[in-house]
Amino acid sequence: MLGHQRVLNTLQTAIKSDNISHAYIFEGAKGIGKRETALAFSSMLMCEEKDAPCGRCKTCQLIQQSSHPDFQEINLDDDKSISVEDIRNILKGIIIRPLYSKYKVFVINNADNMTVQAQNALLKSLEEPPGFVVFILTVQSGTAMTPTIRSRCQRIFFNKLSHEELREILKAKYGVIKPEWDFITSYADGVIGTAIDLVDSPEYLEIRDVILEQAMQLLQSKDTDVYALYELFEKYDDKIDYILRVILMFLRDLIVYNQTGNFSILINSDKKDMIIKNADINLSSLIKSTRAIWSAKKSLEVNANFQLTVEVMLMKIQQSMFSPLSEAR
Ligand SMILES: [Zn+2]
Repeated sequence: MLGHQRVLNTLQTAIKSDNISHAYIFEGAKGIGKRETALAFSSMLMCEEKDAPCGRCKTCQLIQQSSHPDFQEINLDDDKSISVEDIRNILKGIIIRPLYSKYKVFVINNADNMTVQAQNALLKSLEEPPGFVVFILTVQSGTAMTPTIRSRCQRIFFNKLSHEELREILKAKYGVIKPEWDFITSYADGVIGTAIDLVDSPEYLEIRDVILEQAMQLLQSKDTDVYALYELFEKYDDKIDYILRVILMFLRDLIVYNQTGNFSILINSDKKDMIIKNADINLSSLIKSTRAIWSAKKSLEVNANFQLTVEVMLMKIQQSMFSPLSEAR
């Protein structure tokens, strides 16, 4: 259960029509499912059963564990560069025929982290691979690769998944449906890895509870101590982008509810009570607060001073109730 059915169909068709490329670039956002698809494609190529990929045979299982003898993989953290030595190691024995399957598959994850020397070391094998070899390079952006590498590979683009697809994958993985999944699938914005991270780390939902509680208090009372509230933001400074998006998504819901009274189109559908409780916040205040947060988010993205930016934002949110909309810029 992967999503990306269009990609899988393309690859399946290539296998059926015996039109497999020697090298693929799987291109798409971090966490979108490129490695999982690379493993699935490897299984399609190497599976022992008729209904490939069966997912049950020894080959399919060993590929999932990245330990099949005819399957080689580089899977470093995405902040590590891939060196010439890494490439030479994986390519050792590339000319020896596969032991158990028709193919030998080489997967290089985060291939956009290859040094130029590493790319050059790979190039020779990409240019004249033995007939049984298939390369899969996964990248966030193909432009990080040298044009010579790109020109030797078939590029496959991974689209973001729909909320429905994300829900289906989560349902299959966890065997339940949780009320907070509307929020999680919206936040994940089509990237399954982000959705799974959120489900697997309860801390994120706890932070959301705390932050929304405080943000609503700030909007509802002019007595809130902005400097004390800043400390909460400082505590979670490594998750500031998450926190700001959480508040933005909640303000969006308040605006939608304010304008339509419609619950069915809310992102934070698990927080209906909180939305009703804060439904009296006026539209102008919501819009001004949204602007203040967007502005802070953009400043922090270009490394503005954290404390100053957050405190100014909090003050603007607090003042949003008391000044007319035209003064909010
Ligand atoms: Zn199989």
